[in-house]
Amino acid sequence: MKSLGSIRREFSPWTDPDAKPYIVVDKVTKRFGDFTAVNNLSLGIYEREFFALLGASGCGKSTLLRMLAGFDEPTSGRILLDGQDLRGIPPYKRPVNMMFQSYALFPHMTVEQNIAFGLKQEGMPKPEIEARVADMLKLVKLTQFAKRKPHQLSGGQRQRVALARSVAKRPKVLLLDEPLGALDKKLREETQFELMDLQQNLGLTFVIVTHDQEEAMTMADRIAILDKGEVMQVATPPEIYEAPRSRYVASFVGNINMFEGKVGEKRGDGLAIALPGGPTILSETGGEVPVGSDVAFAIRPEKIAVSSRQPAGGANVLEGEVYDLAYLGDMTVYHVKLAGGQVVKASALNASRISEDPLSWNDKAWISFRPDAGVVLTR
Ligand code: ATP
Repeated sequence: MKSLGSIRREFSPWTDPDAKPYIVVDKVTKRFGDFTAVNNLSLGIYEREFFALLGASGCGKSTLLRMLAGFDEPTSGRILLDGQDLRGIPPYKRPVNMMFQSYALFPHMTVEQNIAFGLKQEGMPKPEIEARVADMLKLVKLTQFAKRKPHQLSGGQRQRVALARSVAKRPKVLLLDEPLGALDKKLREETQFELMDLQQNLGLTFVIVTHDQEEAMTMADRIAILDKGEVMQVATPPEIYEAPRSRYVASFVGNINMFEGKVGEKRGDGLAIALPGGPTILSETGGEVPVGSDVAFAIRPEKIAVSSRQPAGGANVLEGEVYDLAYLGDMTVYHVKLAGGQVVKASALNASRISEDPLSWNDKAWISFRPDAGVVLTR
């Protein structure tokens, strides 16, 4: 596997105020009868970006992708590609290709015939087709399978043929609807990295639809989280994880604990949150939220320490009892039930073989966390 780090670290056009998005979705609404599948949605995707649309089933991801491809037109709003309004431009005239959930290869054609199909239709001269197909086969590491038919291939190999076929015409943008959906977990993980390499090597813009958060987190430069046809947040995977802007986004990606309470008082840039039943949580952020507001302090399990002894220093220490625990080998996840009844998840890395502070079911336990370890959410 090639390291992507050094290249990707440089890639963040969305932080450059002068950079223009390559694809602009501008206040797009799509209605089917009286049902609104996509609701006044705006976002920008940059050239060479790996962009993921993530959301629960029915949130409008595929509908948005189909409008980019030209299989559906927006009811209102515009989609621009490189400054050009795409309205009325048929799919085959857009510099865009789409790879579908079921990547339907032609069963009677060999791998190379499948890849060559679109090029032939375009009228590309034969020697060029041969060269392009050979390139594509090399790219997806299937040169030795060129003469096989799809039924003589594994699921992962078929998926790679479909990919080769969809990039053979060198589209500027490749749209992928759940491209790894048909693969088992291990193959999916391997293929994720292949897909990232392919996108890098070809310098294409990828827009991928997935309902699998891990897949989006692994592959994408940025993720748009959709709910009911609307964008909840667009951000890089670390931002989505560490700085979700709403309870919905926080809960959609990864595990999280929500301490629901009311803002009691301001503390510099931060605030104190009064939890029901008395305890107070201090947060270093959220100072802009008015006193008295209902908020959630959202914090990931790995940012909560759990101990059988009461930690020194009083802030953000809560007492409870080990309600459940799961030993996962590399880490242990504790479910600690607090006096008020809330169950808090805390995960501890098993860095040494034998824990110095063994905790078991029903043991008294203290959880603690730093005031900068969570985010204050108002939505
Ligand atoms: P999934 O992950 O299940 O594919 P999705 O987020 O891609 O979900 P869409 O396929 O975009 O969801 O559909 C969004 C909503 O629009 C759904 O409620 C769906 O039933 C509805 N919808 C999609 N296409 C049509 C259509 N042609 N006619 C009527 N309703 C439609």
